[in-house]
Amino acid sequence: MDQSQKPLVQASAIVKKFGGFTALNQVDLVIYPGERLGLIGPNGSGKSTLVNCISGMLKIDGGSVQLRGEDITQLATHARVHAGIARSFQIPKPFKSMTVIENIQVVINFAGHLRSEAGDHRTHEEKALSIIQSVGLMNKADAISSSLTQVELRKLELARAMSANPQLLIADEALAGLSGAEVDEILELIMGMKAKGISVLMIEHIMSAVMRFSERLMVLVAGSKVADGDPQDVISNPEVIKAYLGE
Ligand code: ADP
Ligand code: MG
Repeated sequence: MDQSQKPLVQASAIVKKFGGFTALNQVDLVIYPGERLGLIGPNGSGKSTLVNCISGMLKIDGGSVQLRGEDITQLATHARVHAGIARSFQIPKPFKSMTVIENIQVVINFAGHLRSEAGDHRTHEEKALSIIQSVGLMNKADAISSSLTQVELRKLELARAMSANPQLLIADEALAGLSGAEVDEILELIMGMKAKGISVLMIEHIMSAVMRFSERLMVLVAGSKVADGDPQDVISNPEVIKAYLGE
């Protein structure tokens, strides 16, 4: 992480209410280019709500969201995807009746080509296959998505997120429900995003995975940020231990 760089994403004083309930109370979040940021907190502390506010799935009631210094607070989700934000995992919804490669091509057609690198003259099929290969699904490229196992579906989900050519990948509980070996496999793939220059914001309950992944760790408790910094410092912070790790 290089904090002398300008932030990729800067969310400031985010407020989100559901009726009379304040789910997020003046939360700040910054993520730098290529950084791996972990986000933890008890169930219901507002983690998914916060990333939904960043991806545009939820409208905020206060605060602002900037991407590369530009205010995107009013941008719709699809426009944020085009701008480089890809949210993934908590609602994995590939088109079940399509094959793996068709699922990838849908996303490339929707978003990927708009931000493809100059000089990349590969066809959409070639791009799709290279992404499928990078997540280790080559042997399933032509399989119907409904036939995939849990771990294969996570790989497909990751491949779909990458097909949008993102600068920020948001992984909300990408490892939930996987076995130990599968956790390692998916975590490896997510950690590999850094080599591609992609920032990752990961929400995760498995603490060993969180600690392995995070270059910086942020903690939400009841809609407020209680810690943000070096992961070791954060998990030894008494307020964090009391509110979260000791539950
Ligand atoms: P986390 O991801 O940290 O488990 P969430 O962000 O999903 O927590 O939820 C934070 C709080 O906001 C919870 O109390 C939850 O019940 C509430 N909440 C989340 N989404 C909605 C919604 N669409 N309508 C009403 N309340 C919601
Ligand atoms: Mg959640």
